[in-house]
Amino acid sequence: MIMLIGGFQKFTLSDFPGRSAAIVFTRGCNFRCPWCHNHELIDPFIRNLPGESSPPDALSIIRFLEKRVDLLDGVVITGGEPTIQEGLQAFLRTVKALGYMVKLDTNGSRPEVLVDIIDEGLVDYFAMDIKAPFEKYDILAGKRVDLDSIRRSIELLAGSGIQHEFRTTHVPDLLSESDILDLSSLVPPGSKWKVQKYRDHQKKTGEPHIAPTPEPENPELFLHF
Ligand code: SF4
Repeated sequence: MIMLIGGFQKFTLSDFPGRSAAIVFTRGCNFRCPWCHNHELIDPFIRNLPGESSPPDALSIIRFLEKRVDLLDGVVITGGEPTIQEGLQAFLRTVKALGYMVKLDTNGSRPEVLVDIIDEGLVDYFAMDIKAPFEKYDILAGKRVDLDSIRRSIELLAGSGIQHEFRTTHVPDLLSESDILDLSSLVPPGSKWKVQKYRDHQKKTGEPHIAPTPEPENPELFLHF
């Protein structure tokens, strides 16, 4: 099971709607968003995160989850970008076999992985970033993005019958309010869409940000019907 793990949080009540969960941070990302909240996790070759002497491995996380079956009911897989991990499906199968509900965060770049995961019923809640209107996607993702893949992933999740949400981070220097308005046309009717304000955590605290992006104080929550 090859899963590059960048961090592990044993408990959260705020990252999986309605569930107590642990969070697995995978290491490595195929995007280079200039505003990335988890930039310590982008490079797959950095073994130790600041403040962590030895990163946990997938098997030790599974062992932890085996012992917490009666105390936790969910596992969040985030990153980095989890869908680039070779061992993702095997890891998800093991977690599901333990009886956990699973939430997967993704940038939507690998719809072929999402198809397999959906077909196997390995995830109970998806959260996918829609980073920008398509004409600005490369700027917000920090690299050339295959927009067909993003479009396919949006359609897949919207048609999956599985709980999901789309998320946009409003980075003021890179996205205008009219960009956000344009972007809203990418969100399928019936899907939940959250827009959260970018917060430069590292600038404010001087600490590396390896915790999940905190919920904004006043999230704008759009429900499309
Ligand atoms: S997709 Fe997510 S983890 Fe990857 S660079 Fe962008 S914000 Fe960071």
